Amino acid sequence: MNWFFLLLSGLVGALFGSFLNVVIWRGPAMWGLMGESTAPRGNLFAPQSYCPACYAPIRIRDNIPLLSFVVLRGRCTKCDAVIPLRYLLVEMLGASAVFATAWVWGPSLTAVLASVFLLALITLAAIDWETGFLPDMLTLPLIAIGLAANAAGLFVPLRDAVIGAATGYFMLWAISTVYKNLRGHEGLGLGDAKLLAALGAWSGWAGLPATVMIAAITALAAVGILRQRGGDISAETAISFGPALTAAGAIVFLLHTAMPANAILTSFSFEI
Ligand SMILES: [Zn+2]
Repeated sequence: MNWFFLLLSGLVGALFGSFLNVVIWRGPAMWGLMGESTAPRGNLFAPQSYCPACYAPIRIRDNIPLLSFVVLRGRCTKCDAVIPLRYLLVEMLGASAVFATAWVWGPSLTAVLASVFLLALITLAAIDWETGFLPDMLTLPLIAIGLAANAAGLFVPLRDAVIGAATGYFMLWAISTVYKNLRGHEGLGLGDAKLLAALGAWSGWAGLPATVMIAAITALAAVGILRQRGGDISAETAISFGPALTAAGAIVFLLHTAMPANAILTSFSFEI
């Protein structure tokens, strides 16, 4: 394995992470999801990066992915405001995502598309965490690109992908509808259904049960931890399911498409 290529992939991933932080901050306002109360935050290309607290432009040397956050100890150089840890986390996740796909698939179109998928999941998780929305602007194209990638024969057979997208949407739509009728208020939004449709379009239907199970366990564990810490959580508390769903989707995608069962078995019998 070419270590220079992998290192370069990680750096490119960190740069993408840095860009995703801009999308996560400006996207929801741009797409009208934040209501009238939020001042315009600019579009994806202008103005240049600024401190969310004091609006001071960020100098290029203070805007180096990963490094700047550590050097500045997570604070703005102008107003000393704490920069949310999310900036560092997204850059680290971006670096890991591109590194992982480069490691699994090498320099190929498959690796590029797998990176697109994982980077989109990181963006969706962060936006849902911060705003409670999974924007159609991201989930719908992700369904289309997943189906196109599998039509080109990249990850799973196209038939599995189409069934996966339809089943994924229907599963969460059904749960959401039943919940709404029982409780009288919305527990799961249709954004979650479109996200699961996207996961099905990329990984195929076979990955869906494991995805939902891992996501549910993760979400329940998170609620348990919040309760332990004295958080005020009841059945009425709205909790974003998106972050758990994206994490589960990324794990299942990598296990299912990068290490198909027959490849694992082959390497196993080779060892013997
Ligand atoms: Zn500032």
